[in-house]
Amino acid sequence: MVSEQNKARQMDSTLEVESILIEPPQEKNERAFKIEQYLRRTYPNPVIALEFTTPLQLLVAVILSAQCTDVRVNIVTKELFRKYRTAKEFANANRLELEQEIHSTGFYKSKAKNIISCCQTLIERYGGEVPQTMKELTALAGVGRKTANCVLGGCFNIPSGIVVDTHVRRLANRLGLTDQDDPEKIEADLMKFIPKKDWIHFGNALIQHGRKVCVARKPLCAECVLKDLCPSAFTIVGRSGAPTYK
Ligand code: SF4
Repeated sequence: MVSEQNKARQMDSTLEVESILIEPPQEKNERAFKIEQYLRRTYPNPVIALEFTTPLQLLVAVILSAQCTDVRVNIVTKELFRKYRTAKEFANANRLELEQEIHSTGFYKSKAKNIISCCQTLIERYGGEVPQTMKELTALAGVGRKTANCVLGGCFNIPSGIVVDTHVRRLANRLGLTDQDDPEKIEADLMKFIPKKDWIHFGNALIQHGRKVCVARKPLCAECVLKDLCPSAFTIVGRSGAPTYK
């Protein structure tokens, strides 16, 4: 049974959500600034969970991470990166063999095709190196903005945008910084409120926070450093109870 206190708290939260949904851009800007400050204090150096030592390895790992956990990708790439050490070796891979090697990451046929095609382009146009612009990266097979942002930020420290994965998508909505579902629209909303110098950190820190605290089903709001800045704090009781921002 819901106590009177909880009812009152939920009612307050609902009012708060409504007020934040219509909060003026300047206030949202200030709130986003504070969110980034709190995240920076909590996660000063958020690391990418995918294991890599070169830009090529991160590129391949992010391609493999679509619809797959980072843990699984790391298991697969441990062997994969021993066998294929350069773009040329990936470009010349036997497709059926590569499919078997990456089978457990899911969507293995399209991933194998994309990795081979992507690496063939790296050989033909970039001497086997990974290019360092969004335009060049997103022209490669299997590479979208998320992958490009991840590689540019993670390997070259270039703030090309904000990585939007499943965690960032969920948290950006819960934090009331967007009301979009589409990753590119979410990224565009976040880029309006977060200064460019913080783009790399903000994406990586949100991912960490999504893994550790603001988890999908039962976020740990009581332990969350963002609870005073979050319109969803203490309102999410499960999928059906989650507030909607539409
Ligand atoms: S207060 Fe709760 S819903 Fe908001 S970011 Fe923190 S854990 Fe997520």
